[in-house]
Amino acid sequence: MTTRPAEKTDLLVVGAGPTGLAAACDALRHGLSVRVVERRPSRAEHSKALVLHARTLEVLEVMGCAEALVAAGQRFRALHVRTATDATPVRVDLEQRRWGDTKYPFWLSLPQYETERILERRLEALGGAIDWGTELTSLVDGPGGVAVTLSSERGLQTHHARWVLGCDGGRSLTRDLLGIALPREELDLTFALADVHTRCALVEDEGHVVMTADGVLLIVPMPERGLWRLIAQVPRDAALDDPAAWNALVLERAGLDLGVHRLGWSSRFTLTSGVAARFRKGNVFLLGDAAHVHSPVGGQGLNTGVQDAHNLVWKLALHRRAALDEAAREALLESYEQERRPTALAMVGTTATATRLLTLRSPVARWLRSRAAWLALRLPFVQDRLARGVGMLDLLTDGQPRLPNPELGGGARLHDRVHALLPTALRWQGQELLVRPDRVLARPHLFPADVAVAARGEPS
Ligand SMILES: Cc1cc2nc3c(=O)[nH]c(=O)nc-3n(C[C@H](O)[C@H](O)[C@H](O)COP(=O)(O)OP(=O)(O)OC[C@H]3O[C@@H](n4cnc5c(N)ncnc54)[C@H](O)[C@@H]3O)c2cc1C
Repeated sequence: MTTRPAEKTDLLVVGAGPTGLAAACDALRHGLSVRVVERRPSRAEHSKALVLHARTLEVLEVMGCAEALVAAGQRFRALHVRTATDATPVRVDLEQRRWGDTKYPFWLSLPQYETERILERRLEALGGAIDWGTELTSLVDGPGGVAVTLSSERGLQTHHARWVLGCDGGRSLTRDLLGIALPREELDLTFALADVHTRCALVEDEGHVVMTADGVLLIVPMPERGLWRLIAQVPRDAALDDPAAWNALVLERAGLDLGVHRLGWSSRFTLTSGVAARFRKGNVFLLGDAAHVHSPVGGQGLNTGVQDAHNLVWKLALHRRAALDEAAREALLESYEQERRPTALAMVGTTATATRLLTLRSPVARWLRSRAAWLALRLPFVQDRLARGVGMLDLLTDGQPRLPNPELGGGARLHDRVHALLPTALRWQGQELLVRPDRVLARPHLFPADVAVAARGEPS
């Protein structure tokens, strides 16, 4: 192997999944120099994460890519929930929910490769690029930054970065090199999934959840006509490797003949979840699946990773630029773990509980769940909470709510008045707040007034 000359950037982003790409776009927007390395030779064509939520789209709007994502995706119009084989399905009309003030009052279906492609295009427009086929192999952290060894077919290279962002997924080498544990809880449940091409007459933009004694089945619309994501809890040895087997499973559990005639991507997974013991060590940070792994049934993993990136990058930019004393700088960087780890713990806990409820084994518990869910889901306020809650709009960060985004007249919204890069001092309904586009900041003392933009937003 040859050794190539060293390079230097503010950030080294390890991994070009959705988290790494979002972090890199945000960093370039803030004027930081960035290198993105990705072990794979090219983009994976797996559809994986299929749902983008309102809160994530708000964050991605700040990064300049929400419009392209919304144009490429498919909005869920409704969700049909059948709480038992013999129960009447409850239709949750997602368009009629009280979403509140968000500009994105929907769940958006978009395959992960498409989300990544749009993020990559944005990265390139901002002047960045992905170093495909380049792998982090070791790192040494010191007071002035991190020396990293990268390996590619061109040889080994040392790269110096002020900070390293480990966005390298659930099996993160960055995490291992830091010696940070990620204790996992395994649920003894097997799921199979497949993207299936169908000839069915199902309404294209409506999803289905069917709870049966054999296990739960999810039918999720995808943007391409006739293509659906099926996710089914199955026995460990279930053979589901051809279209006919999937068609039979859906017919048996949901009474629907989908006319499955071709399988696209298919996979099988057991449920595992956990949160890393720390999200930062020195100048190295963990984000996305490197920091927390979730049950895919909750559909929150990609969304949480993108929000991690948005939480961290502006703090690094502020640290780099502003004349802060050492204690303030340290507090700024520490706030990433202080804010994101509790959010990840809550998210992992909620998705694990939801998964357990969906996969109950005892017939009595299933009967109780079915009755309770059927009664509750018919209530409009429960449907509203489901829509907003899954959309992550009610998530607190550091005890603080998301910054509302009401229309202010003339087509403008409150988020448009918030500075895109810096904390903004906002007088809102008689209160003085320090805000970011996605939330109210809990600890204004961390962000000295001379770096806040005094944009006093009053609704017109
Ligand atoms: C079947 C399935 C369905 C899902 N559905 C949803 C959903 O509906 N909604 C949702 O929000 N989430 C969902 N998820 C979860 C979602 O896919 C993940 O949370 C998401 O991919 C995490 O993004 P990431 O960028 O953090 O990590 P990853 O996407 O895993 O990306 C990490 C990248 O780092 C690279 N890498 C690893 N090691 C190195 C190294 N040493 N050097 C350089 N590069 C490296 C990898 O090649 C990879 O490209 C689903 C997951 C699965 C499997």
